[in-house]
Amino acid sequence: MAAVVSETDGVVLETRDHGESDLIVTFYCPDSGKITAIAKGARKSRRRFVNKLEMFTYLRLQLRRSGNRSLLLLEEAELHAAFLNLRFDIVRYSVASVIRELMLLGTREGETDEQLYKMLLWTLDSLDRRDTPLRPLLFFFLRYLDYIGYRPEMDCCTQCGTSAPSAGQFRFNIFSGGLICTSCSPAPSSSLIPLSPTTITHLSDAQDISLKQLSGLQMQTRSIHEGLNILHRYGRHILQREIHSWKMLRQMFAKSSNTIKEG
Ligand SMILES: [Zn+2]
Repeated sequence: MAAVVSETDGVVLETRDHGESDLIVTFYCPDSGKITAIAKGARKSRRRFVNKLEMFTYLRLQLRRSGNRSLLLLEEAELHAAFLNLRFDIVRYSVASVIRELMLLGTREGETDEQLYKMLLWTLDSLDRRDTPLRPLLFFFLRYLDYIGYRPEMDCCTQCGTSAPSAGQFRFNIFSGGLICTSCSPAPSSSLIPLSPTTITHLSDAQDISLKQLSGLQMQTRSIHEGLNILHRYGRHILQREIHSWKMLRQMFAKSSNTIKEG
């Protein structure tokens, strides 16, 4: 049976050793979502894939599906962007690790999502350009939840429909993933997190504007931490598990913030 060769772009999400000399690599691609391919001899002879199969690299891939085997073989990889700052800056690396973990947890092999792919690239690029590292993480997390089917409701109270944030105080319900006004739920609880009007406005704006506009959307550190706190807790509820790389991130920012310590 003839080998089928295809070309696509892709971002490296995970690599693991296979046998004596091979690497199994997980990519996220625009036209096929998450895929896994084997890079034969990648650990023995670095010539073909030198510095390319590193975490977060953005590549042009040449893949071959041989015969009736389901496993893809990685034939060639050409570097689009290495995002070197992510690998040599511990803070940026830990932020990128959260993004990587979310991508691995929230996507399934072969399910295409071009919006998520573009958001992933935008986020890695923003992190690499020495943006304030938590800002791209916040925007990624917000849209990621939307793209995987759990869009946070940031425009109005999910019970009475009162518009936010002008009409009063709002809290974010980490179980339902939406705002709730203090009239509908007067008693505070551990699952209802207060959000400032400024944070609500920014998060609501950040959900639907273009990526170019998103690059220009500035937020105060306090709002970024507030937003990350609710998204982390809501995300954990949706994914039904701990986000392990969050721990490293939390330690990293423990000195500068109180809010990201929570959860
Ligand atoms: Zn209400």
